[in-house]
Amino acid sequence: MAEQGATSFSSSLDAGWPRLAPSDPCPCGRTAAAGKGKVRAFGDCCGRFVGPLADEGGAAPDAESLMRSRYTAFVLGDAGYLLATWHPDTRPETLALDPAQQWLGLQVKAHLPRDATHAEVAFVARSRDATGRASRLVEHSRFVREGGRWYYVDGRLGG
Ligand SMILES: [Zn+2]
Repeated sequence: MAEQGATSFSSSLDAGWPRLAPSDPCPCGRTAAAGKGKVRAFGDCCGRFVGPLADEGGAAPDAESLMRSRYTAFVLGDAGYLLATWHPDTRPETLALDPAQQWLGLQVKAHLPRDATHAEVAFVARSRDATGRASRLVEHSRFVREGGRWYYVDGRLGG
């Protein structure tokens, strides 16, 4: 009998987190063509970078892909991925994710490459907490590319 007991947030293998098959629609909502068509399969989208299907050493090729994969990491409860893709200058020591927070959808409003190693992504992420209260996170995030990998630097709230 699976029973949810004391919850630890340290492992993404804890009960309460969604599991995705490669053919499931990717939580990030990315479509085949920009804004059109079917949502990409998890295994062909964020699953290449985050979760059990990820390629060893696979890295998001641009800031938008990284941002989307980080959203998916929130959905999957993968704090390790969030920390690994956070720039060391701004990365917290630890990150506690709450499985009771349910992520409902992501909308990328703009992907703004500034130069070869800097980019910004504006997005809206919707979620619902354990009490059922819905909220919208509107953020403008900054990303930097170092050693061939993109990292999340910080975000400014609001449109
Ligand atoms: Zn995705």
